[in-house]
Amino acid sequence: KLSKRLETVAKFVPQDAIVADIGSDHAYLPCYLVHNNIAKSAIAGEVVKGPYDSACHEVQKEKLTNKITVRLADGLAAIEPGDGVTAITIAGMGGPLITSILEKHPLALEGVERLILQPNIHAKVIREWALQNCWKIIDEVILLEDEKIYEILVLERGEMNLSELEKLLGPVLKQQHSDVFHTKWTREVEQWGHVREALQKAEQTPEILAKSAELAHLIEEVGEV
Ligand code: SAM
Repeated sequence: KLSKRLETVAKFVPQDAIVADIGSDHAYLPCYLVHNNIAKSAIAGEVVKGPYDSACHEVQKEKLTNKITVRLADGLAAIEPGDGVTAITIAGMGGPLITSILEKHPLALEGVERLILQPNIHAKVIREWALQNCWKIIDEVILLEDEKIYEILVLERGEMNLSELEKLLGPVLKQQHSDVFHTKWTREVEQWGHVREALQKAEQTPEILAKSAELAHLIEEVGEV
């Protein structure tokens, strides 16, 4: 059974997509997508030998070797020109790692219509990358599983405008304002408050003062939301 987190990622994979799941680990997501006739076929990419072996093992066990190709490669290098990949999933990593994967092999994105990204932290850098690279956010989800809060960003090609606050909070998530969203940002504002108190006790160098002012601004803006 797939985690609620990965099941939610799967919900955004278009019917009959050819999917590349990058950083696939056990290849649970591509196996689920093919078993449920959502994906026509899939690539499971892994850069580390151990998880790559787990992925191969899982795909064999599930008798899906005709539909899922497992490749040992760094990021989007797992995608080959003839694959015809239409959707990419990248889940369970930090936002900066996800964006670095997207930036490293830009040609692999040709023909890709949708990106479904699930950063564990720092979703903001993905929204910034999307803005700069002509992808727009078509949907977002925030969810709680095992006491952890996850965000899922669904991107398609296009233009969008985001305010600074929307880059941080997510335009759709800010609008929806779910309970989980509220919990996440209440916690963050509290954390920033603690950091700010600590800064106020430190020697007031220009750097410390600037950082403190920046936190005060964030606390006010996010606190208001
Ligand atoms: N995607 C699965 C999930 O969400 O449950 C597995 C997440 S696991 C925490 C992250 C995986 O990404 C690890 O197996 C790691 O080896 C892989 N990974 C990290 N950097 C990668 C890269 N540049 N290319 C491919 N895989 C990568």
